[in-house]
Amino acid sequence: MQPASLFLGHGSPMILIEPSPTRSFLADLSERIDRPDAILMVSAHWQAERPSLTFTARPETIHDFGGFPPELYRATYPAPGSPELAERVADLLGEQGLKADLHPERGFDHGAWIPLALAWPAAKIPVVQLSLIADKDAAAHMALGRFLRPLAGENVLVIGSGNLTHNLREAMAWMQRGAGDAAWAHDFAHEMTEAVLAGDEKALAEWHSRMPDAARAHPSVEHLLPLFVAFGAGGGKARLMHDAWELGSLSMAAFSFDPAD
Ligand code: ZN
Repeated sequence: MQPASLFLGHGSPMILIEPSPTRSFLADLSERIDRPDAILMVSAHWQAERPSLTFTARPETIHDFGGFPPELYRATYPAPGSPELAERVADLLGEQGLKADLHPERGFDHGAWIPLALAWPAAKIPVVQLSLIADKDAAAHMALGRFLRPLAGENVLVIGSGNLTHNLREAMAWMQRGAGDAAWAHDFAHEMTEAVLAGDEKALAEWHSRMPDAARAHPSVEHLLPLFVAFGAGGGKARLMHDAWELGSLSMAAFSFDPAD
């Protein structure tokens, strides 16, 4: 069955140029699912007060990272935008009383374009990016995803791009030590994965108070929130598509979600 939505771990921008299991997974992704007519991308790297949508036919590639090799700054992802899809999404959200902003200037941040550049390098499929909602919790982002469910019937794939665990300070410390304890990250990822695969909305909504090491796994929540959007946009069976780790404690897990019955 064609998934309604995916959650992808994007990790470091280096994934674009350095071989890794996750790079290989993303490079093979288009062979595992049917080609969508368009993609709605929700990245950890765009939060706005209201849900916001890229609204241009030619979105630019944003290099929102520092200190990486020049070839990463030369890379672009010239996929077309789709103002029509942006308006469709704004309408779907509007029907639920959620006003969305349309952004004619905004392009794709690296959480959006880097996974897409690996998965669909031809950059022919139109892409619209939808922001997270600043200061809103897991339940609000699951609801945001639920409002997007009609898109599955229109062959629009919703993709959340973040990381199941994301603590950059711990990742840096791990790099300096060369190794170290990351059992807390694995435990957290395991519990979250169980909740996702069981479709346990309540456990997910309460993740921060229920899961041991929640605050350590996500000192800030933006890399986890795209998972809740993807979860909400699905509604059918969830599958673990990929499971890998980088820098000790950074989960690169990916999930797919079938459409609701
Ligand atoms: Zn990121």
